[in-house]
Amino acid sequence: MQTSFTLAQLADPDMAESERILRTCVHCGFCNATCPTFGLLGDELDGPRGRIYLIKDMLENDRTPGSRTVQHVDRCLSCLSCMTTCPSGVNYMHLVDHARARIEQTYRRPLFDRLVRHLLAAFLPHPRRFRLLMRVAALARAVRPALPARLRQMLALVPGGTTAPPMPARRQVWPAEGERRHRVALLPGCVQQVLEPSINEATIRVLVRHGCEVVVPGDLGCCGALEHHLGRSDGARRAVARNVRALMREIEGDGIDAVIVNASGCGTMLKDYGFLFRDDPTLSKDAERVASLARDVSEFLAGLELSFAGPADSLKVTYHNPCSLLHGQKVVAPPQDLLAAAGFALSESAEGHLCCGSAGTYNMLQPELALKLRARKAENLAQTVPDVVATGNIGCMVQLRPALKAPVVHTVELLDWATGGRMPNGLARRSSQPPGEES
Ligand code: SF4
Ligand code: SF4
Repeated sequence: MQTSFTLAQLADPDMAESERILRTCVHCGFCNATCPTFGLLGDELDGPRGRIYLIKDMLENDRTPGSRTVQHVDRCLSCLSCMTTCPSGVNYMHLVDHARARIEQTYRRPLFDRLVRHLLAAFLPHPRRFRLLMRVAALARAVRPALPARLRQMLALVPGGTTAPPMPARRQVWPAEGERRHRVALLPGCVQQVLEPSINEATIRVLVRHGCEVVVPGDLGCCGALEHHLGRSDGARRAVARNVRALMREIEGDGIDAVIVNASGCGTMLKDYGFLFRDDPTLSKDAERVASLARDVSEFLAGLELSFAGPADSLKVTYHNPCSLLHGQKVVAPPQDLLAAAGFALSESAEGHLCCGSAGTYNMLQPELALKLRARKAENLAQTVPDVVATGNIGCMVQLRPALKAPVVHTVELLDWATGGRMPNGLARRSSQPPGEES
């Protein structure tokens, strides 16, 4: 694609990177075929190629974007399906990230939108505040009919049920069982540790059982993805810098073999830390080092030779690969190979490349599209008649549960169970129900 940026514009490293990306696009449109929003809306501007043109126009002309550009960029899930499809290797992720930051800096959103985005950025990355927000949401459910339509829609997507206190803020270490073969750091996540603490518990159990010492550095926080995808670059950079410093203390201290991430949205972000700090002379090397050690939990476990204890009992598992793992990290085989090796009967659903509509805060910000994508994903998964759906991202779990009869659990919970740990909560609840009764 031809571009016409001025030399002054290209002096900005972000602009220079976006220009380089734009020039790789040959506007063939192949990416439209696998874009979930193009599939739903059928509008060229709601597909990757159309968005690329809108972003090019905004950046090249140094324009404050109009509401039309903002709407089409906002409707993008950042699912990165287009990057898997693109034959030219267009890095749409970095381009749309730049566009979101630019929109945030220059465009004044309507008051309600500003409030919602501020609320999400202020509460979700902080486990204690998030827990408080969940309590407020539980109270709001009682007066739901009196709320404005948009708030009602958002509330419908907030998970109910109990929440857990966040992990302690201090550094914690779990020694390896038997001979120590590895030492790893675990990113505990923010929303996940409050909504589903069993995921971190299962991760730690399965790692420890297989000879890994696990450390959670006390000052690790949100990976930064949440604010990054809202275009709030400063907040995201602060979160990244704090995590890089905390992890470097472990790397330079007792050393670590990997940074384990069990929420794939966070994993995609961690693996991009080097790029995000590429122009920062004080942190670029450290950020690159941390990024090079980031591993999805399934990737790391695939290298450990797990000893399976056998409770899988041919349970029918349909695996839903989160976009951030499938398209963002290109981690495809490890979770499925591990589940198959554990003895689960693995099924694949149709349209596995399509997003479930969760996409970080997307389901809160674009509830109508998110619900349509969820319905389509749930229908595809249900057609495999699974006993359980496994996935690798808390966002997908929360998004899919209300739409499925089968329980939705994290892959690592099944692997923990299959190697001598506990039955996942979702399955345990199911097996305690009288036969034939659905939750
Ligand atoms: S498939 Fe790649 S090269 Fe073709 S239009 Fe899409 S982004 Fe551009
Ligand atoms: S990231 Fe996903 S929603 Fe956005 S343009 Fe690419 S395929 Fe479409």
